[in-house]
Amino acid sequence: MGAETRIRCFVDFERDGRQISHLQLPHSSNASAYGWIGIPIAVIRHGAGPTLYLGAGNHGDEYEGQITLSHLIRTLDPGEIQGRLIILPAANLPAAMAGQRCSPIDDGNLNRSFPGDPDGRPTAAIAHFIESVLLPLCDAAIDLHSGGKTLEYLPSALIRQRGAGDPLFAAKLAALKAFRAPIGYLVSDAREDRTLTAAADRVGIVAVGTELGGAGTVNLETLKIARIGVRNMLAHFGLIERAASADDGVEPRLMEVAGPEYYVHAPCQGLFEPAFELGDEVEAGQTAGSIHFVDDPATAPVEVPFGGGGTVICKRPILRVERGDCLAHLATDYAG
Ligand code: CA
Repeated sequence: MGAETRIRCFVDFERDGRQISHLQLPHSSNASAYGWIGIPIAVIRHGAGPTLYLGAGNHGDEYEGQITLSHLIRTLDPGEIQGRLIILPAANLPAAMAGQRCSPIDDGNLNRSFPGDPDGRPTAAIAHFIESVLLPLCDAAIDLHSGGKTLEYLPSALIRQRGAGDPLFAAKLAALKAFRAPIGYLVSDAREDRTLTAAADRVGIVAVGTELGGAGTVNLETLKIARIGVRNMLAHFGLIERAASADDGVEPRLMEVAGPEYYVHAPCQGLFEPAFELGDEVEAGQTAGSIHFVDDPATAPVEVPFGGGGTVICKRPILRVERGDCLAHLATDYAG
């Protein structure tokens, strides 16, 4: 940190109106010796007011946010807001163009790359630009995720709780409730400091993430939750004034993902037969399913138990599994 970004940015953050541009990330490759990667950025500003970061395509195979923010960039009249939006609809552009979680250029997982490195590979350079250039301009950050190709979620928004004395906790919780996704959950793994929400903690601003759906696709419900949630965030952080309406989402069920026992992983390779559905309430020790050895049907399947009790909010939609693959994870109701 401290070193300057090599990414060139041509938007004027102080100018009113709509600017749609490309960040230029220098990338010297076999295909293009003096080339750059053009990462789309939009700034929509109208007068003085709060600044909100809106991001999607942090993981390239998570689509609700990419669709919602691209639409917002084209359709939002700057006069509708008071303040400024800084929007990256495809933050890890190479991953988004490939429809993959990680960048095909450097295998970089943007949401495991913060605080990044201005002199590093492309994904690290993007993380550094977001944390050191964009987030310090902002009062809050929204990062739209889903489960991607290998996970499927009950539609959720989430916040990161940074230890017991998190100074932003009350503001984070208020924003989580205001997003109005069906589930709003807290993640309290303070060791994971490589995510955009952790970057926001370091900068000292509130961040809200989402896990809207997944399985490599979208549905009408998750698209609607993304669209309404973004509007709710604009209202919550004071960029738009809006009276509450019946069409602004639901009071979320507040939950938490508090520890490693909330996750189920495959103990071996095989074909996983799940014994649960998304949304099921399960108990510790209850079977999550069985792993079959279809090349050797005389061998009995291996049963996989849930390590804790709670509600299944995430499952793996791909049934061929390797040892170590995450098959599901749970959440429990947040007591407050
Ligand atoms: Ca994600």
